[in-house]
Amino acid sequence: MAIPTTADEVRRLDRDHVLHSWSAQAHINPLPIKSASGASFSDYDGNTWLDFASQLVNSNIGHQHPKVVQAIKDQAEKLCFVAPAFANDARSELARLIAERAPGDLNKVFFTNGGAEANENAIRMARVHTGKQKILSAYRSYHGATHTAITATGDPRRWASDNSSTGIVHFFGPYAYRSAFGAKNEAEELERSLGHLEQLVMLEGPGTIAGILLETIVGTNGVLLPPDGYLAGVREICDKYGIMLIADEVMVGFGRVGEWFAINNWGVTPDLLTFAKGVNSGYVPLGGVVMSKAIADTFEDRPFPGGLTYSGHPLACAAGVASIEVFEEEKILEHVKDLGERVLRPRLDKMAVDHPSIGEIRGKGLFFALELVTNRETHEPLVVFNASGADAEPMTKLLAACKERGVWPFTHFNRLHIAPPLVISEEELVRGLDVIDEALKVADEYY
Ligand code: PLP
Repeated sequence: MAIPTTADEVRRLDRDHVLHSWSAQAHINPLPIKSASGASFSDYDGNTWLDFASQLVNSNIGHQHPKVVQAIKDQAEKLCFVAPAFANDARSELARLIAERAPGDLNKVFFTNGGAEANENAIRMARVHTGKQKILSAYRSYHGATHTAITATGDPRRWASDNSSTGIVHFFGPYAYRSAFGAKNEAEELERSLGHLEQLVMLEGPGTIAGILLETIVGTNGVLLPPDGYLAGVREICDKYGIMLIADEVMVGFGRVGEWFAINNWGVTPDLLTFAKGVNSGYVPLGGVVMSKAIADTFEDRPFPGGLTYSGHPLACAAGVASIEVFEEEKILEHVKDLGERVLRPRLDKMAVDHPSIGEIRGKGLFFALELVTNRETHEPLVVFNASGADAEPMTKLLAACKERGVWPFTHFNRLHIAPPLVISEEELVRGLDVIDEALKVADEYY
């Protein structure tokens, strides 16, 4: 018995024995991937694609970084695993590095295996700390697929699991391009979205609400940047009513928008911040919650009611330590800011002039979305989502046009997201953008 070595074998075993996420299995045909390096990955036939999605927006330092691979090997030789009740060197050091980079007084870390578990535990901490149960979260959000995290998720991925038993209430976050409040501009959107949130708090009862959970920048649901003042406004509401602010930075933490944590762009300190993905680029699964002193103190004399066999896994933490060292040595945060502002944003602005199907461009750092429409006046989306799913044809064709030319971006409903590994070179970025520029002619045909 051996691991299969041909694409056909890999595909056959996959089809026979693997159940894939979020998909009707008969409708998918997963591509066997043989190798990856830096900002690209390859199949068994030698075809290579620029990874413009960083897999699931997690390969922040790129694929197979030799320093991180070596750190995992070194740790494996020393100690592959020890239970979380023991202390271990890699975990201690990674917790210190994260605490040093986290905003405000966030100083203590609980490690998980990924983002959903991080949100589950942040919610649990907010509930125990406040003695309250309800959590408010945004309709346009994704927080993970475990029970409470998927119920906190606002987007339609929630529908199949939601039995409304988990004490989550949803609100509308700011999204000026498709305002839920009829706002005409960003200033109105800011004022109305904060007004809506405070009204919801009053109607639900401040004495029942443990936390407000939000993605600092909404990720899969559209790369929605909060207008300046929104996060500070939410912080104010939280402080006024004794509510914990939980910032989900699973997708945007660790350099995606040029800061260690995206919330640092707005100078706001949450009570709890969740991370995963970019903490070690997924070389070994890892996530966690970094919390304020007040939350940590809650568990000084009373037990923290949670735990995971693999919390603070030595291999994952060693990869995290090495990854943060790579960020520093290769000046990745500076690289992201530079490429984002000097190359990516101006090129997308130019595309918006050339392609009528681009309704709006949003983003920061190396994290952008193109919102595609068939009418710029009415904002009619290129594909319309309804309860039976989206009419996906235009987006399927657009994605195919990118892939045929060697670029693999992420698409969701009527949006194309650009989120390459943060180590991408200027030449690779420009090459990928040339492809997207060409492929967008497919979307223009529907305009
Ligand atoms: N939170 C956000 C913002 C995410 O984007 C994701 C995953 O995409 C998650 C949570 C869930 O993370 P995981 O898939 O590691 O459980």
